[in-house]
Amino acid sequence: PLRVLSGIQPSGKLTLGNYIGAMKNFVALQKEYECFFMIVDLHAITVPQEPAALREQTEAVAALFIAAGIDPAHAAVFLQSHVPQHAELGWIMTTLSYMGELERMTQFKDKSEGKDAVGAGLFVYPSLMAADILLYQANLVPVGDDQKQHLELTRDLAGRFNFKFGDTLTVPEPYIPKVGARIMSLDDASKKMSKSNPNVGSYIALLDSPDDIRKKISRAKTDLGREIVFDPQNKPEVSNLMSIYSNCSGLSLEEVQARFDGQGYGTFKKELAEQVVATLEPLQQRYREIRESGAIHDILRDGAEKAQAVAEATTRRVKEAMGFLLPG
Ligand code: ATP
Ligand code: MG
Repeated sequence: PLRVLSGIQPSGKLTLGNYIGAMKNFVALQKEYECFFMIVDLHAITVPQEPAALREQTEAVAALFIAAGIDPAHAAVFLQSHVPQHAELGWIMTTLSYMGELERMTQFKDKSEGKDAVGAGLFVYPSLMAADILLYQANLVPVGDDQKQHLELTRDLAGRFNFKFGDTLTVPEPYIPKVGARIMSLDDASKKMSKSNPNVGSYIALLDSPDDIRKKISRAKTDLGREIVFDPQNKPEVSNLMSIYSNCSGLSLEEVQARFDGQGYGTFKKELAEQVVATLEPLQQRYREIRESGAIHDILRDGAEKAQAVAEATTRRVKEAMGFLLPG
C-alpha cells in the first residue's frame, strides 16, 4: 500500500489549526494507507524548550493523536527522537541542501525575524523535515498550507539525490485540505494560527475549556461591516471564522453563508463557539481517558519499532548508494 507520513511539533498546545489543517486528515487517511504519524520533538528544539514542558507537551500530543481518532492498530504513532535515523538522514539531507534555498524558506524568515540569536537548527529544519518524509518513502504527506514550501524542497532533495546517486527515494506529494488549510490567528488574520504564539487569545487550543473557547471566539477580531460572507481578500477575519465553522459543522462555505444570511457577527460567533465546543468536547473526554490509562508509552514503543524497521532499510540504501562503506 501507499505510505503516508506526517508530524506535529510538541512546541506548545495543539490548536484548532493543527487539527483542521493536519490531524483530521491523518484520521481520514489511516484506513487506506500505511501511515506513520510522529511527534517531531527534534524539530521542537529548533526554538528553546523548557525540559519539563517539552516532556509534558510530547505526551499530550501523543494522547491527542489517539483522542482525535488515530488508531495505533492502523498507524504507527511514535516520537522522532526514538528513531535515530531521522537525525542521521537529516544530516545527509543537510549536506545536499543549498544555503540559498534554505534562506528562501518563509518559515525560517518568520521564526527568525526580530531575534538577535537565531539557532542554526531553525535554518536546517527543512532538511530534517525532508529526511523525516524520505525515510519512510512516503507517497503522501498531509499538512497545512504553511508546509507546502518545505514539501517542495523535500521533492527537490529527493530528485537531487536520485539524480546523483540513482533511484533510491520516493518523491512525495502534499495532501492539503480544501477548506481550512490555513487557519488564521484570532487576533490577526494576516498571520496563521500557531501553537507557539505567546498570545493565548490568538488560538483555540484543543484542550481549552468550553468557557475559554466561548471567550476567545467572542473576542476574535472581526472585519468592518456586518455581513457573513466568504471573501478572504476583503473580509479575512470573518472568512477565517467561516472556515472554522465549515470544518466543525460539516457544512460547506456556501451553506454557512446561507445560514447566516442577514444575521450579524454576534449570532454567528455564538453559534460558531457552540460548534467548536461540540467538536472538541468528545475529543477532550477521550484525551482524559487515554492520559489516565497510561497506554501512551506502549503505543509509542510499538510505533517506534514499526517505524524503525522502515527507517533502517532506507538509511542503509541511502548510505550504500552514496558510497558509505557499510559495516560487514
Ligand atoms: P509552531 O508555531 O511551533 O510552528 P504550529 O502550530 O505551526 O506550531 P506545527 O507543529 O509546526 O504547528 O505544524 C503541525 C501541522 O499543523 C503541520 O501540518 C502544519 O501545516 C499544520 N498547521 C499549523 N498551523 C496551521 C494552521 N494555522 N492552519 C492549518 N494547518 C496548520
Ligand atoms: Mg509550525
